[in-house]
Amino acid sequence: MDIAKIHELFLKCTSVSIDTRKIQQNSFFVAIKGDNFDANTFAKEALEKGASYVVIDNPDYCIDQRTILVNDSLKTLQELAQYHRNFLKLPIIALTGSNGKTTTKELIHVVLSSKYRTKATVGNLNNHIGVPLTLLSFSTDTEIGIVEMGANHKKEIEFLCELAQPDYGYVTNFGKAHLEGFGGVEGVIEGKSEMYHFLSDKNKLAFVNLEDPIQVEKTNSLQHYSFGINKSEANVSISEVTANPFVTVGFENLKIVSHLIGLYNANNINAAIAIGSYFKIDKEAIKIALEGYIPENNRSQLVTKETNQIILDAYNANPSSMAVAIDNFKQLDKSNKIAILGDMFELGVESLQEHKQLVNSLSNQKDIICHFVGPDFFANSITGENLFFHKDFTDLVSYMQIHPIDKSTILIKGSRGMALERTLDYL
Ligand code: ATP
Ligand code: MG
Repeated sequence: MDIAKIHELFLKCTSVSIDTRKIQQNSFFVAIKGDNFDANTFAKEALEKGASYVVIDNPDYCIDQRTILVNDSLKTLQELAQYHRNFLKLPIIALTGSNGKTTTKELIHVVLSSKYRTKATVGNLNNHIGVPLTLLSFSTDTEIGIVEMGANHKKEIEFLCELAQPDYGYVTNFGKAHLEGFGGVEGVIEGKSEMYHFLSDKNKLAFVNLEDPIQVEKTNSLQHYSFGINKSEANVSISEVTANPFVTVGFENLKIVSHLIGLYNANNINAAIAIGSYFKIDKEAIKIALEGYIPENNRSQLVTKETNQIILDAYNANPSSMAVAIDNFKQLDKSNKIAILGDMFELGVESLQEHKQLVNSLSNQKDIICHFVGPDFFANSITGENLFFHKDFTDLVSYMQIHPIDKSTILIKGSRGMALERTLDYL
């Protein structure tokens, strides 16, 4: 069956699904092979649970005219998403970068939603499966689509841009994330810049943060719309940026007080203000939207326990996001500061060195008690009155049971695999 015909069937459905546990009535189910399972085996169950059509790539699982047999289900999902995107012709904003994509996406989403029917990536569905699912969630009444794109190796953003065909793009930053797959920071810059290559068409536009010299250089020859902090040359400029602890910014004659922690979020807020302004949203509406956004999912969240205040940023970590989080923590005007930091994953050959640098940078920061958790930090154990090393989470817990933490301000950050939000149970 050709993709146009498959698309016709897709349009008769109300949603797309790849997971029978979350299936809805009248959905379009695509059976994808994962590492641990082959969803072809769930085709029958999908139909029983309410799917109207099921795409499969194994003829053994054909059931009736509701099963659509293709060569490769994943490829069909991607082609269908691309076809659907071209069918809809709505403006699409794509976001990539090493850090801050999801936060920025959420902020842009709340701002644009104050005026337009806007749909955005749900959660962190930002890869070769998530981007197609996002595109397929857009419908004829969607006025603007926002697509988060993640990458851990080169050519991935190029591929995702081919699918999503964005009209607008923003790269949040070029940092030290996924160094393993990209082969170093230069590789990260090249990889993220694939979006800029895609935006070089004169009908397209890049949003650019003038605070970041790499963005400025890479977007120089592109059509762009700029923003910055106290930058008169920018299309949109914010001022009076503070974070104590919530990030507050001045925008024209307004003061916007967010619920986000961490000065780095000023850039994310600024991107949302700029994109809102570009799409002609009133500044008052931008303020209301941004002030109403409350982060969740362990990202830059403030959690108050009986006697402790916790900056929970345990969603993920890499050297650049660690650096900004720690910088921000250093500047916080609080006593009894404790940092609980977990290993940063996916750094390849640079891993031990990156962990070592971080330990060294905190060894002179006597006003912060540091607990390092995980094998790569542990391998870099050094002596220091404010430094504690735990080879894993269990060790940290044993320590905290003997030395309970109270009346403190605590930063918690580590890679997703460390799941350091578990620490909350012991604070
Ligand atoms: P992922 O790669 O997991 O999808 P992401 O790019 O979507 O991550 P977020 O989930 O928004 O990023 O934020 C993750 C962490 O990155 C934050 O908790 C914070 O520590 C850091 N971070 C957020 N924004 C920035 C920024 N503009 N610059 C540097 N670091 C940031
Ligand atoms: Mg994300």
